[in-house]
Amino acid sequence: EFGEISIKDIDQVAKTSFPLCMRHLFEKVKEDHHLKHGGRMQLGLFLKTMAWCSCLMGVGLKLDDALAFWKAEFAPKVSAERFDKEYAYNIRHNYGREGKRTDYTPYSCQKIISVTPGIGDHHGCPYRHFSEENLRAALVRMGVSSRAVEDVMDKVHNRHYQLACTLTFEAVHGSSCDAGINHPNQYFIDSQRVLQ
Ligand code: SF4
Repeated sequence: EFGEISIKDIDQVAKTSFPLCMRHLFEKVKEDHHLKHGGRMQLGLFLKTMAWCSCLMGVGLKLDDALAFWKAEFAPKVSAERFDKEYAYNIRHNYGREGKRTDYTPYSCQKIISVTPGIGDHHGCPYRHFSEENLRAALVRMGVSSRAVEDVMDKVHNRHYQLACTLTFEAVHGSSCDAGINHPNQYFIDSQRVLQ
């Protein structure tokens, strides 16, 4: 039910179907024209297999599109030559084309929630790692109503980060998500199902 996702569709699907962790990384790479390693891994693996599940394994951004995406986003700060030297290898590596040739799997919520981002890092789970003020502002930007924001914050205060994400999903899609959110790529798939 999903085709290949090409570069021209990314801006649109990022707005409608990315969970907050990936929206944040996506906005940051557009704004800063750079992302540190942790962010490149978290977003890169997500984009590689946007619609990831057993039935849809491998549907996502193709390697050539991924290279073009990162190169274009980094271009204001990183020359094409430097990009090819310093960044392209890692992207090919994530696609299993370099090194041990293992295909890297996108990160689960549990993994993302358990990291400790450093200064200048933008990866991690916003429900766990954002300040309350930044999280509230981000939720409002996603179109979450003020009442739903309070419900989300309630889950956050009780450290139920995935439930907070599930409530956000329900608020922005106007649709229930009974299974709960346990993987960013699952959020994406469920969102596309609701929207299509
Ligand atoms: Fe991303 Fe999962 Fe956190 Fe939602 S709960 S923002 S999908 S890591």
